[in-house]
Formats: sequence, C-alpha cells, structure tokens
Amino acid sequence: MTFWLRRIHRADYLAAKRNDFLLFTRVALLITAAFLCTTIAWDHAIDPVHARDTIRLRLIESLMAVVWLVASWNNIHARLAKVAAVCVPLLVSLTFIMVLARLDSGSQYGIGGFLYFFIFLPFLLVGHSIRFAVAVMTGVCVFPLMLAPFGLAALPWDIYNAYVWMGFVPVVGIQLLCEYLYWRVFVYRGRVERLAVTDALTGLANRRRFFIESERILESHRRSQRRASLLFIDIDHFKQVNDTYGHIVGDAALCHVVDAIEPHVRKSDLIARYGGEEFVVLLPETSHRAALVAAERMRCAVADKPFEGLPEAPHTLALTVSIGVASYRPGARQTPDIDVLIQNADEALYEAKQAGRDRVHGIPDAAERSSAAADAGARTRPRLNAP
Ligand code: GH3
Ligand code: MG
Ligand code: MG
Repeated sequence: MTFWLRRIHRADYLAAKRNDFLLFTRVALLITAAFLCTTIAWDHAIDPVHARDTIRLRLIESLMAVVWLVASWNNIHARLAKVAAVCVPLLVSLTFIMVLARLDSGSQYGIGGFLYFFIFLPFLLVGHSIRFAVAVMTGVCVFPLMLAPFGLAALPWDIYNAYVWMGFVPVVGIQLLCEYLYWRVFVYRGRVERLAVTDALTGLANRRRFFIESERILESHRRSQRRASLLFIDIDHFKQVNDTYGHIVGDAALCHVVDAIEPHVRKSDLIARYGGEEFVVLLPETSHRAALVAAERMRCAVADKPFEGLPEAPHTLALTVSIGVASYRPGARQTPDIDVLIQNADEALYEAKQAGRDRVHGIPDAAERSSAAADAGARTRPRLNAP
C-alpha cells in the first residue's frame, strides 16, 4: 500500500493522469458551471420570495467554475490551476452559505445541498494526485465549521456533520478505488507500449523505437552542430548456422552476439535490432575515428567469445560480425537524417562483406557522400526499406 501510494505520486504517473483527464476536466467544469446556474430554480422552490436575492450569488458561483476552467485550460496541474482548484470550491461553499442565510428556513431545507459537493468535486479533481484531491475535499468539508466561531455560518451543525462526514468517507473510498483502476490501466498501457518498441528475442529496442529515438537524438545534434556516428552490424554467414543447427540454436546464437556487443555500448548510445541478424548502434557525439574504435571493439568481442550452445560436439561455434560505420560532422554540405546515415553505414557494411567479412569499414562523412552520390545519380546498393 505504501509502495502504491508512493508510486501514484511519481511524476510520470501524474503527467499521464494530467494528459488523460485534461478534456474530461474541461467538460466536467462546464457541466458544473451550468449546474450552478440551474440551482437558481432550487432556491425558488425553497423560498420564492427571497430567491431573487440569491440570483447574483448563484451566477457568481457559476462564474467561479468558469474561472477554474480558464485557469486549467492547458494544464490542470499548473500552479494557477491548483490555486483555482483550492479556492473555487471554498468560495462556492462560502456563497452557498450566504444563499442559505438569505432564504427563509434556508439552513433547514438547504443544508442537504452540501452533499452536491460530493457529486461534482471528485470528478473535477480526478486528474490531480489523490493526495491533493482528498486535501481539497477535506478543506471544503471543514471550511463551514471554521466559519462558525466567527458567526459567519449559522447552520444546524449536528445535521451538517452527519451529512458531510457520512458522505466524505465513502466518497474518498470510491476515489481510491478509481485511482487503483486508473493505476492498473497505466501499468498495463506502459507494458503494451514497452512491448510495442522492444524486440521479443533479444530485448533490444526494435526498429520502430530506433527510428523515433534516433530522429530525436539527431535533431538535437543538428541544432547544436555536434557529430554523430552509426554502426551497422551484421552477423557473418548466419544462414549457415540456421541451416546446420536449426532456428532454435540460431536464436540462441543471435542472443549470444548481442550479449557480446552490449557491454561495449555506452548508456548514451542507442542500440536496436534492425531486422534479422542485423543491428544498428547510434553513437551520439562520436567522431568517425572514435566510432571505428568502438566498432572494432565490438567485432573483437564477438570473435573472441565463441558461442557455446551447440547441442553436439564440438559444442562451440566461432561467430563473427562485419560492421559498417557512417558518421557526419557539423558543417558538412548537408546535415543528414537517420536514413542517410543508415544508407551509408549499410554501404560500408557491404564493402566490409566484399572485403572478406569479420571486419570494420567506414564512410567518414555521411552527408558529403550522400550528396555526392545523389549528384552522380549513383547507388551502389538497393536502398533499405523505410520503417
Ligand atoms: P552474410 O555474411 O552475407 O551476412 O551471410 P548471412 O547468411 O548472414 O546473410 P543472409 O542475409 O543471407 O542471412 C541472414 C539469415 O539470418 C537468414 C535467416 O535465416 C537468419 N535470421 C534472421 N532472423 C533470424 C531470427 O530471428 N532467428 C534466427 N534463428 N535466424 C534468423
Ligand atoms: Mg543480413
Ligand atoms: Mg549476415
């Protein structure tokens, strides 16, 4: 329970709630404003003679709901929106007390109107943290009791306490239940989102995530004129592994290669399974020379660590990878996007394969090379599939 309460107050959870409930809160506030207008009819039913004196107060209540709506239009968690979420219910409570005081026997007949807070407030606060929502609800319930010593509210307090606290406890219980249900949806959605961008076999980022993240990384590099490099890694003669030992052993061998490469990938790098037995690693803020060194380290790591999962003798299998490296530097003729880097790294990989495999080949400046190729209308290899 303590863990759950801590978890539902973390920034990522609250941000998701804020976004999911933004439209809901806007519409709920509009409905509340309309409802507060219609309470003019309720006052009329209680005391037709003095109901005219309460119309202005009712319109002020409705206007306050609109103020809350405006304050939270873009962000229900903004500081101003939070101030509105605290002040508006208290002010509505105050005007309601003033309305009851103006109606004959208002405090007798109308006190049940406090229960309407429980109909509207939990919905209006649902996009906030449960802590904030319960604090506001408590404040609204306690507020009239605080006015009593100053003679500002003359209500039958026994009835008020009975109404309000009998309502408060189950309403907070239901709020907690709704919070739990939203939490379950949040966790489930997170799991589905993670699965959608994760490769099932290796656990690496998949192609979709790679394209989304790499564009974001490269965009920031373009703005700040920093260098970046890309490695395109392909396991050599992998088809033979499958053909000789079957796909299950092939799968294990693929994971083995990933295990060998991963320790050489920095936290800031982005590694992904591009497809089949091909992997890409985007190295932010990395020069071509440094990328070649990193690629060479990865190639040696695979070559030096034979796969030991063969079902029959000799039980070990030497695997190798070929790696194509492409880079771009700031100030190049044209700033490349991820497609250009991939295309050039793929061409460098092709050269590595042609030169005998188990080696690293590089193309230093992706932008210059790609624009030169475009000028000449040349293409050494068919273009890779778009994501
Ligand atoms: P090269 O050195 O030219 O890269 O030769 P290669 O045999 O590795 O190249 P090719 O692209 O012809 O073969 C790739 C093979 O990778 C074909 C496919 O059977 C295998 N493969 C792709 N994805 C998987 C996978 O998820 N599991 C297994 N076991 N094999 C896979
Ligand atoms: Mg391949
Ligand atoms: Mg291959």
